[in-house]
Amino acid sequence: MEPHTEIREAVAKLCAGFPGPYWRALDREMAYPTAFVNALTESGYLSVLIPEEYGGSGLPLSAAAAILEEVQRAGCNGGACHAQMYTMGTLLRHGSDAQKAEYLPAIAEGRLRLQAFGVTEPTSGTDTGSLKTTARREGDHYVVNGQKIWTSRAEHSDLMLLLARTSPRTEGMKRTDGLSVLLVDMREAVGRGLTIRPIRTMMNHATTEVFFDNLRVPVENLIGAEGRGFRYILSGMNAERILIAAECVGDAKWFIDKAKGYANERSVFGRPIGANQGVQFPIAKAYANMRAAELMVREALTLYEGGANPGAEANMAKMLAADASFEAANACIQTHGGFGFAEEYDIERKFRETRLYQVAPISTNLILAYLSEHVLGLPRSY
Ligand SMILES: Cc1cc2nc3c(=O)[nH]c(=O)nc-3n(C[C@H](O)[C@H](O)[C@H](O)COP(=O)(O)OP(=O)(O)OC[C@H]3O[C@@H](n4cnc5c(N)ncnc54)[C@H](O)[C@@H]3O)c2cc1C
Repeated sequence: MEPHTEIREAVAKLCAGFPGPYWRALDREMAYPTAFVNALTESGYLSVLIPEEYGGSGLPLSAAAAILEEVQRAGCNGGACHAQMYTMGTLLRHGSDAQKAEYLPAIAEGRLRLQAFGVTEPTSGTDTGSLKTTARREGDHYVVNGQKIWTSRAEHSDLMLLLARTSPRTEGMKRTDGLSVLLVDMREAVGRGLTIRPIRTMMNHATTEVFFDNLRVPVENLIGAEGRGFRYILSGMNAERILIAAECVGDAKWFIDKAKGYANERSVFGRPIGANQGVQFPIAKAYANMRAAELMVREALTLYEGGANPGAEANMAKMLAADASFEAANACIQTHGGFGFAEEYDIERKFRETRLYQVAPISTNLILAYLSEHVLGLPRSY
C-alpha cells in the first residue's frame, strides 16, 4: 500500500481543479501557476515539514514526498513550489531561534514565500566550491557582489537562501570553507543592488539569473556560523534529492497511466495497439523501472526518518527515478504516435518538464561520481 493514503487522496482532489488546459495556457505564456501554488499553500501542503510549534504540521519527509508525487501524478507541476519544502530545512536546522520565530510561522501561514535558492553560478557550475559571489562584512551589513544563474522562482519568492563567499580562498584552505548562507529579503533588495532577469527554457520553470551589485544584507540574516554555509546546504541535499525522486515517480506513474489508457483504446489494423508486444513491452519495462525507483525512494525515506544520513540511497533514488520518469515519458510518446506531440495531450509538456531532472538539481554524472567514490571506494574523479 502507498503510505499517507489520506494525504494522497486530498492532494489528488486539489489537483483535479488544475487540469491540463490550466497548465497548457501557462506553458504557452511561460507564466507562473499562482492559483495552483496559492491553493497548495492555503491547504497547508507546502508547510507540512515545518514543526507544529512554528505553525506547520510537523509531518515526516515521507508526507512531503507523497504530496509531491501526487502533484506530478495528477499531471501538475510541483517545480513551481517544491523548493519551499526543502530550503526551509536549512533555516530550521541552522537558523537562530530569533530567525526561526520571525520567518517560519510567516512561511507556514503563506504570508512569506521562501522559494528561491541561489547556489549555481555561470562559471562555477557543479563545482560549488569555486563560486565567486562574495559577501564582504561592512559594519552590521554584508555587501554582496556577483551573479547567480538558474535561481528558480526568484520572481515569485520573498526570500532567497543565498550561498556566497565570506572569506577568500587561501592556500591550504578547503575549497568549500569560507562560504556562508544568507537569507536575502528580496522584497527590499530588488532595485537596491539586486536585479532579476528571467531565462526562457524548454519548459515553464520560472527560472532566472540574478545579479548582485553592492547589495546590503543585514548581518542578522546570516544563517548559522560564518564560513560553514556549504555544510548547511549539504545537510539539506538528501531531503531535496528524495523529494525530487518522489516527483519523478509521480511523473512516471502519470506517463504509464496515459500510455496504458491509449494502448487499450486506440485501434489500428482492427485491434488495440496495446495487443502488440512492441507497444506493450516498453510500457511494462517502464513500469518495472518505476517500481524499482519507488522502492529506492522508500528505502531512502525509511533511513532518513530513522535519523540516518542516507547520501547513497537519496542519490540513487534521484537518479533511478529521473531515469524511470524519462523512460516512461519516451514510451508514452511512442505509444501515442503522432498525438504524443500534440499540445492538447499534455504529454509533450510533461516530457519536457521531466527531462530536467537528469540535470538538476544534480546531474546524473555527479551522482555516479558520488557512488563511485563514497560507496565503491574508487578514486575521486573530479
Ligand atoms: C531549469 C533549472 C532550474 C534550476 N534551478 C536552480 C535553483 O533554483 N538554484 C540553483 O542554485 N541551481 C539551480 N539549477 C542549476 C542546476 O543545479 C545545475 O544546472 C546543475 O547542477 C548542473 O550544473 P551546470 O548547469 O553548471 O552544469 P556543469 O557543471 O557545467 O556541467 C555540465 C555537464 O558536465 C557534466 N560534468 C561536469 N563535471 C563533471 C565531472 N567531473 N564528471 C562528469 N561529468 C561532469 C555534468 O554532469 C553536466 O552534464 C537549475 C537548473 C535548471 C536547468
